[in-house]
Amino acid sequence: MIVLAIESSCDETAAAVVESAEGGERAETDRLTAEALRPGSGQALRALRRTLREPVPPTSDPRLPTVLVLSDVVASQIEEHAPYGGVVPELASRRHLTAILPVIRRALADAERTLGDIDALAVTAGPGLVGSLLIGIQAAKAIAHAKRLPLVGVNHLAAHLLSSHLRRKSPVAVPPSAPSALPAPSAPPAPPSQRSSQRPQRLSGKSDLRALPSLPSLPSLPSAPSFPSLGLVVSGGHTALYAVQGPERFAQLAATRDDAAGEAFDKVGKLLGLPYPGGPAIDAAADGVEPGDLRFPRGLDRKDTLDFSFSGLKTAVADHLRARCEPPDRDEVRRVAAAFQESVVASLVKKSLLACERLCIPRLTLGGGVAANSALRRAMANACGAAGIALFLPARADCTDNAAMVGLAAVPRLLRGEDDGGALGARSSWPIG
Ligand code: ATP
Ligand code: FE
Repeated sequence: MIVLAIESSCDETAAAVVESAEGGERAETDRLTAEALRPGSGQALRALRRTLREPVPPTSDPRLPTVLVLSDVVASQIEEHAPYGGVVPELASRRHLTAILPVIRRALADAERTLGDIDALAVTAGPGLVGSLLIGIQAAKAIAHAKRLPLVGVNHLAAHLLSSHLRRKSPVAVPPSAPSALPAPSAPPAPPSQRSSQRPQRLSGKSDLRALPSLPSLPSLPSAPSFPSLGLVVSGGHTALYAVQGPERFAQLAATRDDAAGEAFDKVGKLLGLPYPGGPAIDAAADGVEPGDLRFPRGLDRKDTLDFSFSGLKTAVADHLRARCEPPDRDEVRRVAAAFQESVVASLVKKSLLACERLCIPRLTLGGGVAANSALRRAMANACGAAGIALFLPARADCTDNAAMVGLAAVPRLLRGEDDGGALGARSSWPIG
């Protein structure tokens, strides 16, 4: 089954083509259609009608079929929002509107597919900015309606939670020089020799991971996490721990009581005068820096709760900077960035391992933009190694918003023949588990 997936929940317009190794429904439908069109084929026509109308019954099989990423295109709006130090919802919607069709065209071209090859659509339906979500949803609905294809709405958090299951035919690599502009809507697809169908095409800003510190490669891991697993979503708007019982079954165990970790990175980045978004900037600034005796508090650093808190930490950084007579120089910025990052990472590692221990689940997955953080990846790998917990990290490019994870999360429902169709709406808030 080949799925065209769309993501537009915040400030990234993204489209991807993914292929599930399972699910021959389309081929079966095509075979029945051919038979039904032959003269005197009443029986085949009835069989076709049954196939089209009756969804495959729900399954309790907690497996996620292997999903290969054929293309993955992300157009970031970071440059538009950077002057404001955060996402401006109205601006985001307008930018999605102009980016959505070129991004979809590019995803199809990179996958060397046309709309005629697509079996189903998936689109993020929430949580997120309603104006932004609606652009992706309307585009997906229009294609689904015109091509008579099923369409399912996907929860963005579930997609982040499952992102470590994504598989590519070749390793993820960020192109050495990502193109800075979208192709014009009328531009023909690039010739096959210029395409890189297995690579995420980062079209600008936010997802440019080239500036981040490099990491030693992790020891080889089993191909994909199995269930149950413990999942940490650590993103711009959320920080929460889930027991993941299957690809569609999540139970929330804990969450932040105030700021999300990514939000704290962005706010502290602003306090330090670093470029927006603060996460990648702090990651780069803190690289190789020892904070020395500078230590910021760790929110809810107790064993009686798995919840997180980051607003006190942010205030402590602000107080530290205010107490100085002069603005911090470059070295001080790096030292504060390292001490702040150390505090966030320590909380995330401690609570995640505590949750694994409490639930006796020796598998941990990470998802969301902050999961790209070098110090977090290193510390989590060390702690999990010592505790005998198998750690599954998405490729760094798969941590921030992308549509490949949306296609992946949609596959179980699509394989069951489900279709949200024209009734699909946007949900600004949509808790899971
Ligand atoms: P949500 O997923 O909660 O709806 P979102 O989609 O805006 O929010 P993501 O795109 O998943 O969030 O992640 C963006 C966040 O990740 C930003 O806050 C950004 O600063 C942070 N981030 C990205 N890269 C890094 C990094 N290397 N280190 C720390 N934080 C990072
Ligand atoms: Fe996200």
